[in-house]
Amino acid sequence: MGEFELIRRYFQRPGGTNPAVALGIGDDCALLQPAPGTQLAISSDMLVEGHHFFPDVDPEALGHKALAVNLSDLAACGARPLAFTLALSLPRADAAWLASFARGLFTLADAHGCTLMGGDTTRGPLNICITVFGEVPVVNGRSQALLRSGGQVGDELWVSGTLGDARLALEALQGRRTLPPEQLQAARQRLERPTPRVALGLALRGIATAAMDLSDGLAGDLGHLLQASGCGARLEAAVLGTLPATRAASLEEAGRLALVLGGGDDYELLFSAPAAQQDAVRAAGRAADVPLTCIGRLEAEPGLRVVDAQGRLLEVRHTSYDHFA
Ligand code: ADP
Ligand code: MG
Repeated sequence: MGEFELIRRYFQRPGGTNPAVALGIGDDCALLQPAPGTQLAISSDMLVEGHHFFPDVDPEALGHKALAVNLSDLAACGARPLAFTLALSLPRADAAWLASFARGLFTLADAHGCTLMGGDTTRGPLNICITVFGEVPVVNGRSQALLRSGGQVGDELWVSGTLGDARLALEALQGRRTLPPEQLQAARQRLERPTPRVALGLALRGIATAAMDLSDGLAGDLGHLLQASGCGARLEAAVLGTLPATRAASLEEAGRLALVLGGGDDYELLFSAPAAQQDAVRAAGRAADVPLTCIGRLEAEPGLRVVDAQGRLLEVRHTSYDHFA
């Protein structure tokens, strides 16, 4: 199978096209027509074998995750997905692998009405780079995009879903931890098939003051939000301890905190909102069908503090992910 046969067979599909895609796969450029009064939100994420996934990972899960991590960035900005491009480097054209990868990719793409509109295919080490395009309304000249920089002192800090389970699965798969089979299975699902919180991002427009998605661990990622918003935060250790879905007996309190703060690969949303908006926040969570947890508050004092139930400052250890550290 040659390059063009591969593209035609696995990536060029009739129908299912988002109306914003004026021209899809097949010409030198694709054409994207955002609706009047909207901005394009654009984000790229690359997945590299050996760094982001194990060589033997299920290709269907990989197709899902490659797009999921990109949709998660759109979710963080409150953008509605329109289309994406796929740059793919493959060691060989393996029909079974490609069919499975494409199934994982398109199942998620179709669920979000997000059309594959172009890309590039070359031979080389397995490497997947997706760029997503989303749409954000501009109202009275103001973009409705959720940014990291809008947090205000006094705002409550929230996270969606559960945190720490992907990291737990990673440690188990690397042989650094043992988990009972059912728990490993559930945690592994979180690592390999994250759910981008697109509906939540949309529901939080006009409610959240700042937002981002959690990909490298809560402590590190929150640090970026705090820096952008020019403030600090206080988090409740007792609440953080409830965030992993995995209830392993072997996981002591300090270990749970380290998992949640160090985390990584969670793909949940972290956002701030005024305390007066608590009802609206909860309604957004219900509308998007995702549990939300208030984990603390933004404070004027810079830095991140984690406190126990008595308000005492805790020494916490965590390592967030940094490719070049
Ligand atoms: P070029 O002539 O610019 O090199 P290509 O031959 O790489 O173009 O691609 C031909 C068409 O197929 C283009 O429209 C391109 O966007 C599309 N394409 C190539 N690879 C992929 C892919 N992996 N997924 C989707 N579309 C692809
Ligand atoms: Mg060309």
